[in-house]
Amino acid sequence: MLNTHLKILLTIPTIFYKNLLDLIYSTEIELTHGKDVMTDEDKDNTDLIKKAARRILKDEIKHLHLIPSVAIKLLKLTNDDNARIENLSLIIETEPVLAAKILNQVNSAAYALPNKITSINRAVNMLGFSAVRQLAINLLFYNKLIQRNSRQAFDLLFFWQHCLYVASFSRRIAVALKHPDPDLLYTGGLLHDIGKVVIETYGCVDYSDFIRSMDKGEYSSIEEERRFFGITHAEMGHVFCLEWQLPTSIMAIVAFHHNQPAETSPYAKYKTEIAIVSFASYIAWIQGIGSASATHDSHSALQDAVLKTIDISQLDLETLLQQVDQDMKITREFYDIQLPGLTTLRATLVKATINLSQISTDNPFATDDTPSRKLSSSLTAPHHSLNPDEFIPGTLEAIQDEFSFDRSIMFTIDPKRRCLLASYWWPKSILSTELNTFEIDISGISGLLLKCLREKKAVIINIKMERDNPIIQRLNTTEFIAVPVLQHNRLIGVLYADNSLSKKPMRAQLLPEIMPIAYELGIAMFNAKQYDQQKKHAQIDHLTQLFNKRMVNKFLTEVFQEDESKLANIAVGFVDIDKFKLFNDTCGHQAGDDALKIVADILRSLTRPGDFIGRNGGEEFLFVLRDTDEKGAYGYAERIRSKIERRGKIMSQRFHGRLLTVSIGVSMYSTDYTHYTDMVKVADQAMYRAKNEGRNRIVMLPDVAADKK
Ligand code: GH3
Ligand code: MG
Ligand code: MG
Repeated sequence: MLNTHLKILLTIPTIFYKNLLDLIYSTEIELTHGKDVMTDEDKDNTDLIKKAARRILKDEIKHLHLIPSVAIKLLKLTNDDNARIENLSLIIETEPVLAAKILNQVNSAAYALPNKITSINRAVNMLGFSAVRQLAINLLFYNKLIQRNSRQAFDLLFFWQHCLYVASFSRRIAVALKHPDPDLLYTGGLLHDIGKVVIETYGCVDYSDFIRSMDKGEYSSIEEERRFFGITHAEMGHVFCLEWQLPTSIMAIVAFHHNQPAETSPYAKYKTEIAIVSFASYIAWIQGIGSASATHDSHSALQDAVLKTIDISQLDLETLLQQVDQDMKITREFYDIQLPGLTTLRATLVKATINLSQISTDNPFATDDTPSRKLSSSLTAPHHSLNPDEFIPGTLEAIQDEFSFDRSIMFTIDPKRRCLLASYWWPKSILSTELNTFEIDISGISGLLLKCLREKKAVIINIKMERDNPIIQRLNTTEFIAVPVLQHNRLIGVLYADNSLSKKPMRAQLLPEIMPIAYELGIAMFNAKQYDQQKKHAQIDHLTQLFNKRMVNKFLTEVFQEDESKLANIAVGFVDIDKFKLFNDTCGHQAGDDALKIVADILRSLTRPGDFIGRNGGEEFLFVLRDTDEKGAYGYAERIRSKIERRGKIMSQRFHGRLLTVSIGVSMYSTDYTHYTDMVKVADQAMYRAKNEGRNRIVMLPDVAADKK
């Protein structure tokens, strides 16, 4: 329950703040605002996001009373203002309910002060500028943000917890890293996701709409926000800070906590502050204290830049988490909200996740005394193929020649099934049937092999030490070496070798010789993946990430080469956006592009893996379904049509009242067709019929019902 003071505070009319604003602005302090440090390019970018913001908001940002003016003023009161204590007291004292609440809090048991404090000035002197300012800001924010505890998908209380957590964590990190202004980090953390509240409170389409439009299980990324709103919450927050002329440091955190600014950007000088808040937000998220709702949240992997900017190894995470828990305990009691505990569990989780996402391009094995560097390059150099099916067996063969092992096997990690799979082996002749199905459950691994996986170290495992080792048992050997294969310091596989026939003992000196080879194998596999992605580029439509027209034709040609029995169950369909030209004309090309992406996402989400979906050009998509009948094909088309119609309704205000709908034409296979183009032509005719009959509908051909008439 909110206590009385807070309840009174909630009812203070805005007009009161307006008077106060005038009063406060008469004692304006000079501040550096974002606009003073901008280059032309930055100005262009800022204009763009301002325009995008204006398009989706119901009102001009500067008219939005999202945060009381007092709070804005307090935010501008940075740690190094000269007259800071007087200014702070003045602001708080001119707002009696706020003052009363602060005195009440200061005199509560939590602060354990010897004497009762009755003046704000004294409170500031006793508790310090930073604590009092923080208390006041928190109060004002809570008052304004949480006043409508709605049942919206965007849960403001949940959001509030996230902000407080990030604020507190950021401040603690700042202190640990000896940052000169931990208060700035607190404020930055508190405000970092403010863009979400701007959209939720004043968007034509609000943040709850966005969350609702995402199906369960889809996670909402910052890119999806851009697609949906035409602007991300970070950009919206940036516009908000600009309009309200918040300090550049805060603006930098709000605008860039999902992507670090370019080195040349004027915001780059705040990259440490940005990185701290990004890190804190990430830690909050991995503990389930996300910012939008318990089930949906815009999160991204921990950015490399964050780990490059702040030295996480300097942080004692366990202590930090405990401190933040303590901070949160006080806040929780104050606001009567619940937050999770279990620090130790979370500390382990946090550490594990950071390790996983940490990226290092250095060769972790390259020490000055690493022998055989020349040898390793001689082994991997001849295998410049980008196909893993060629270079991995090639490398295994070369290792075999060089070290005369009896057998070598490349185990790769299947992260989904959490197991090690025997993927390649040498010589090919041995054990191939057994190895085809050889997999080891990672959770069952112990002993030295576990050390190899965990510490990324090469090991020799001997039957005398580990009689029960599953590999020793399955591969019937007495000894083997296991070498981790890494991709940017992430474990992707294990290289195995034994001398099971010759029984030659494995020498410890072998390990440093073979490690660089495993390392280069990892790089080669990484390059192969990159190449694969490049290849995909030529097949994928850049805007929608669906297959392009070239692939549409290729797929259709291949399908029509299948035998008649399979062809009988094929359906081809066109999906065409209705009146898309008007969409572009009234809402702009960017909104048009976003609509295309939304349709593509829906098509992707409803299409089975074996079926095909591509962008045929413009605002027209093509699908090919296999193993289906008329009913199945119609059902699929109807799911697409209705989901797009539903999403379109939610987004209609963003699209100036225009409804996003599609017309779909489907053709079922008939033996009359001699070439795929015949079938495509019929689907095209069906689509045009759907247009003529009023759009937002499905027409199937051949029309079996009509034929029967
Ligand atoms: P109908 O309901 O009859 O299909 O009307 P329509 O306006 O959708 O059809 P029309 O073929 O007349 O117009 C298609 C428009 O799609 C014209 C073109 O400007 C637009 N378009 C094509 N490709 C893109 C694209 O990549 N992005 C955007 N924004 N617009 C595109
Ligand atoms: Mg965010
Ligand atoms: Mg169209």
